[in-house]
Amino acid sequence: MTRRRFAGDTLVIASHNAGKVREIGDLIAPFKVRAVSAGELGLPEPEETGLTFVANAELKALAAAQAAQLPALADDSGMSVDALDGAPGIYSARWAGASKDFGKAMEKVWKAVAEKGAEPPFGAQFVCALSLAWPDGHVESFEGIIPGDLVWPPRGDQGFGYDPMFLPRVNSETRTFGEMPASEKHAISHRALAFRQLIDACFG
Ligand code: IMP
Repeated sequence: MTRRRFAGDTLVIASHNAGKVREIGDLIAPFKVRAVSAGELGLPEPEETGLTFVANAELKALAAAQAAQLPALADDSGMSVDALDGAPGIYSARWAGASKDFGKAMEKVWKAVAEKGAEPPFGAQFVCALSLAWPDGHVESFEGIIPGDLVWPPRGDQGFGYDPMFLPRVNSETRTFGEMPASEKHAISHRALAFRQLIDACFG
């Protein structure tokens, strides 16, 4: 498959989520690209009407690319819990409500798992879709997935969102994403896995 390459010098990070903007900014830093966020440009936040991570990433990237008339990179991501048939999944942000309280969202996940009578280990995965869109409507998309297990109570205050209740199932890891320095999370995360594919295909 031939992928379109990024040839500009400015890239819009099509997200209003400070945690994601920071992580994508860190990941893109080694490539000579000026990153500006949708928030800095005052771009509107489109409604996430897609039914998959990729569909939502594409609609966010396309909306930002068209509004800014610049290439735009969007991330749609979330945590899917096996015992909950993949929930909260694409609704991960929405489970935190308008106040974006992820302490409450984590409690809601844990309560739902307990109500199902699930037995440990409580398998889950983080999924990240990254879409790079151009103002002419072209879009390239990539997906990264990291398996893990839920822990309770949540541990650590690094990262964002559901990080403190997610123990990645990699390298016999004993720390949640919330207990890991950003540099270590960036080496293994769903976002890093999607990002590597994006870099190889579009920035190489
Ligand atoms: P959306 O992609 O903007 O719909 O929101 C994704 C939501 O999934 C975030 O608000 C977080 O709650 C969760 N999420 C995505 N990636 C991560 C991550 O790396 N750590 C923790 N939570 C995440």
